[in-house]
Amino acid sequence: MARINEPFNGIIMNRRDYRERDQLVKILTDKQGPSMFLVRGARRKNFKMAADILPFTHGRYVSWLSSDRLNYIVAAQETHQFRNIGDDITANAYATFILELVDRAFEDGHDIGAWYGQILAALHLINDGQDPQVIANVLEVQLLGRFGVMPEWRHCVICGQNQKLMDYSEAYGGLLCVNHWDHDPHRLHLDAKTINYLRFFATLNLQKVDQVQVDQLVKRNLRWALDKIYGDQVGLRLRSKRFIDQMSDWTEELKKWRQ
Ligand SMILES: [Zn+2]
Repeated sequence: MARINEPFNGIIMNRRDYRERDQLVKILTDKQGPSMFLVRGARRKNFKMAADILPFTHGRYVSWLSSDRLNYIVAAQETHQFRNIGDDITANAYATFILELVDRAFEDGHDIGAWYGQILAALHLINDGQDPQVIANVLEVQLLGRFGVMPEWRHCVICGQNQKLMDYSEAYGGLLCVNHWDHDPHRLHLDAKTINYLRFFATLNLQKVDQVQVDQLVKRNLRWALDKIYGDQVGLRLRSKRFIDQMSDWTEELKKWRQ
């Protein structure tokens, strides 16, 4: 028996061609987390939902579970495309990275609760011109828990102190205060500003943020620290992240060349 499901809110994550005329579209849904849908006729010219399933689009969708157990998107309403993300290569790269990270962090077909609002807010901020690296960093800090890494950002893991100078230790899975730095010679040796941002990002509700500004040096340190933690503790290396790294290499080259 075929049945129409409840309408849901969704963000288009990625899509690929399927059969001669169709597409498989992965949508981050507010009710079932990431889910794959079949869109019939999506590859045809003048397809009526063409705009609704473009990358970086969000809105309300109606799906239909067919007797062959496939979920079809049958209608869309009030969809909006994040146009600036689509047009700007840096914004595009970071938004793609966020969605790939989210795809890895959550199992298909499971409710993701408040995460949906947080991820949608991240894309809105990037689309509104906020620094895409910083927005991505906020989610990277917060998503660590989804990969089983739960750093203690509140206080020193040894003594519970939270006022002293802090550093991050991978071995201890959290902060070490200056009195306990001797416990881990491989602590990340981060500066106080970078540590403060990491601690701040851990609980930041992006739905309450209108702008974020972080200076270049701290941004570089955040990038380094999160790459290190994701590399060592999560073991994740995403294609979209490699693209971002290459892009920043090109930017550096270009700067040198212009000087
Ligand atoms: Zn301590």
